[in-house]
Amino acid sequence: MTDFTKLSVSELEAHKRDLKNQYQEFKAKNLNLDITRGKPCAAQLDLANGMLDSIDGENYKSADGIDCRNYGGLDGLPEAKKLFAGFLEVEPEEIIIGGNSSLALMHDAIVRAILHGTVDSEVPWGKLPKIKFVCPSPGYDRHFFICEYLNIDMIPVEMDGNGPDMDRVEELVSGDDAVKGIWCTPKYSNPTGVSFSDEVVDRLSSMNTKACDFRIFWDNAYTAHHLTDTPDTLKNILETCRQAGNPERVFIFGSTSKISIAGAGIALMAGSVKNMEHTRKLMSVQTIGPDKINQLRHVRFLKNMAGIESHMKKHAAIIKPKFDAVQNVLAEALGNKNIAEWSRPNGGYFISLNVMDGCAKKVVQMTADAGVKLTPAGATYPYGKDPRDRNIRIAPTFSPEDQVQTAMELVAVCILLASVEKLLEE
Ligand code: PLP
Repeated sequence: MTDFTKLSVSELEAHKRDLKNQYQEFKAKNLNLDITRGKPCAAQLDLANGMLDSIDGENYKSADGIDCRNYGGLDGLPEAKKLFAGFLEVEPEEIIIGGNSSLALMHDAIVRAILHGTVDSEVPWGKLPKIKFVCPSPGYDRHFFICEYLNIDMIPVEMDGNGPDMDRVEELVSGDDAVKGIWCTPKYSNPTGVSFSDEVVDRLSSMNTKACDFRIFWDNAYTAHHLTDTPDTLKNILETCRQAGNPERVFIFGSTSKISIAGAGIALMAGSVKNMEHTRKLMSVQTIGPDKINQLRHVRFLKNMAGIESHMKKHAAIIKPKFDAVQNVLAEALGNKNIAEWSRPNGGYFISLNVMDGCAKKVVQMTADAGVKLTPAGATYPYGKDPRDRNIRIAPTFSPEDQVQTAMELVAVCILLASVEKLLEE
């Protein structure tokens, strides 16, 4: 394998000619492929078809006789609360089950804090001249859209192999009372695949915050989404916050969107009893109750934690070969060339790829011109601005494996070509 940064100009020129030919060959294929969003594929959705048959016109009552067709049950059906409290490692009184989208629960939790404050706010966040969120980056673009839409300033903080750079996080939250929150995707993070270390969880739970009503938005979207038989583990943050004397600090979120049916899952919010009581009170103005029929379907179909685990193994069997295809193409084409690095996640939905500084936009444009859509470069950073223009998010789950393979072969050629052109400019 050749370190490309050590090649002579004439060697680079030779590679450039060869890569340009390869790129033209891809263009001639008139590809039309899309590896942009982390959606489950149809075969994954098929796994939950049985769930749709678990309720019919005669079979709609919960275990304790609640008619799930009617109004009520603001924070969820008791058996669903029991199952999903176990799933999020909290107690049933520490969970609220919402509609179908955890992203909507996160959005609404922030809007409520802006309008009314949290249980420990001195004033509603919206009465302050400015509020800010710490945004570990690269991160989930839709978290950043919520902040942008609600006029919350975003402060990017680098992610490393253990989670966010905690020295920087501590410095930011202890120095400025306008900093009210931090976004975290703590397990198999979107897009880096990193699971937060115990030390990071402890430091987040115990750090000094200048704002008395600081919140960790703990989006545990991928908690059960393992790709291997040796899954990552994550410390229980509600417990560590409690032990650190900050029981109200964390809002936990999760959903079954990528367990059962992406558009018809159930969304979860958890936290201290005090936080949940406050949330329930405000939620009762917004809704008379959630879709209990869907909650009952989920409980009947998934049954218990063992049921969730065995169901998730079926997902892994479908998507792991696609992740492997990405890894194999990247290793084969770019391994040891010193022009790119990428994640090898044990779970989740993404592979995060860093190319040479200043090359991500160019690579995404080149692949688009040859018929393969990638997530826009920069999308993984607040305001869509990757300061080094180097991160590309690969989402392999939705497309068939052969398409993922072809798309990645093109991506590799584009990365090689963009790198060679950059090296020739230097
Ligand atoms: N959180 C993260 C980190 C995600 O990656 C996604 C979807 O890609 C979501 C939340 C969306 O969750 P939901 O479907 O429950 O709104």
